[in-house]
Amino acid sequence: MASIFGHGLVAFTTSKVIDSKANKLLLFLAIGSTILPDLDVLAFKIGIDYMHPLGHRGFTHSIFFALLWSVVLSFSFGNNRKVIYFIVLFLSTLSHGILDAMTTGGRGVGFFIPFENSRHFLPWRIIQVSPLGIQEFFSEWGIRVILSELKYIAIPCFIILITLYFIKKKKS
Ligand SMILES: [Zn+2]
Repeated sequence: MASIFGHGLVAFTTSKVIDSKANKLLLFLAIGSTILPDLDVLAFKIGIDYMHPLGHRGFTHSIFFALLWSVVLSFSFGNNRKVIYFIVLFLSTLSHGILDAMTTGGRGVGFFIPFENSRHFLPWRIIQVSPLGIQEFFSEWGIRVILSELKYIAIPCFIILITLYFIKKKKS
C-alpha cells in the first residue's frame, strides 16, 4: 500500500473535486473506503496466500469490490444524493488499488477479481511501498515513504485543492 495518509488524502481530494459541497459524512466514508481494502492483510493471519483471490491486494482491491461497496454505501447513506455518493465512493475505493499498482513493492493488484485472478501493476511504479507495521513505519523506510508520497501524492493533491479553493472564491 501507499500509507493510510496518502490514501486518505486522495479520497479527500476526490470528494472535493467531484462534490464541492461534500459534507463530513461523505468525506468520512470516502477516507474510510480508501483505507478499508488493506484490511485484507488479515488474510495472512488466517493463512490465506498472497496470490489467492482473497489474499492481500486481491478481492478488496478489485474494481468489482469498489463497485459493490460504493453501491451499498450510497444506498445506505446517500439519501437524495445517491449518484454523487456513488461516484465519489467508487473512485475513492478504486483509488486504493490504483495507488497500490503504482508502488515499488509487493505483488500486483487483482483489479479483475473475481472474473480473472492475475495481478497487475501500472507502468509507473513511482511510489515507495509503505510498510504494513507501525514500528517499521517510524524508520528510515518510513521517511522514504513520506518523501515519495509528498512528491507524488500530497503535492499534486494540494495543488488541486488550492486551485479549487481559488475557483470557488472567484465564483462567490
Ligand atoms: Zn492495498
